[in-house]
Amino acid sequence: MRRRTYLAGGASVLASIAVSGIVSQPAGNERLLEAARESPDTGEVNSNTEPILSGTDHETPLYEIDAPNDGPTAMIFGGVHGDERSGIEAAREISDWRPDAGTLVVVPETNRVAVENNERRGVDGDLNRQFPADREPQSELAAGIWDAVEAHQPDVVLDLHRSLGIYGLHQEFVGQAIFHSPDAHGERLADRLDEDAVPWYLPFHKFTAGETSLTGPLLFQHAARELDATAYLFETTEFLLDHSTMVEMSRLAAAHVLELHGLLEVGGGA
Ligand SMILES: [Zn+2]
Repeated sequence: MRRRTYLAGGASVLASIAVSGIVSQPAGNERLLEAARESPDTGEVNSNTEPILSGTDHETPLYEIDAPNDGPTAMIFGGVHGDERSGIEAAREISDWRPDAGTLVVVPETNRVAVENNERRGVDGDLNRQFPADREPQSELAAGIWDAVEAHQPDVVLDLHRSLGIYGLHQEFVGQAIFHSPDAHGERLADRLDEDAVPWYLPFHKFTAGETSLTGPLLFQHAARELDATAYLFETTEFLLDHSTMVEMSRLAAAHVLELHGLLEVGGGA
């Protein structure tokens, strides 16, 4: 029913996508991604891996990458929901990135047990509801993740997710959306992603940016509330997009956030 509604206003190219079911040609931004992957000219990058929740079922690696120049600390999470594979895969890749300034901290498999079981929730329920205002994190896992966040004192937090539908079109889903704290560059990020990653024939896949209330129990809200971090929650959608396109959108979201906050420099003119 919903797909029918979606197609009613579309061009024939959209119908052909619906037949194959996927879009597999993300536009990308190779210059930006090269800047993320290549070592800076200005000096050495130092990488360090440490376990979070060491010795427990939840043990999961945290990657800290220090750039040669001073700058903010950005923390990127994948796998808060264990079945949202695009964010996990993008975050694993981001753990090899080389920022120009500041410190990049990446936790690709935040809810390790849920990631291993390929399920949204882990043994203690939905991790992204366990960071309520004015209370302690609500599980051993949430407490361990929060300890790591506090230890690194991020200026910027990005949590990578995926949805099953389109924001505003499918009532219960929020795909292609960026939720953010009031001080974040939500609109700019959405505009950049629309330019880089959303093909012209998918107008409904344009990103929606929305300022979030900081009263909720989500990890990024807690970071904004407790640590004054500039925080983003990114949602790409499985609706009409294939896996590699969703990964591309997630990695571009991360690269733009790092660039917008001064960790990445895109050299040259143009
Ligand atoms: Zn999620």
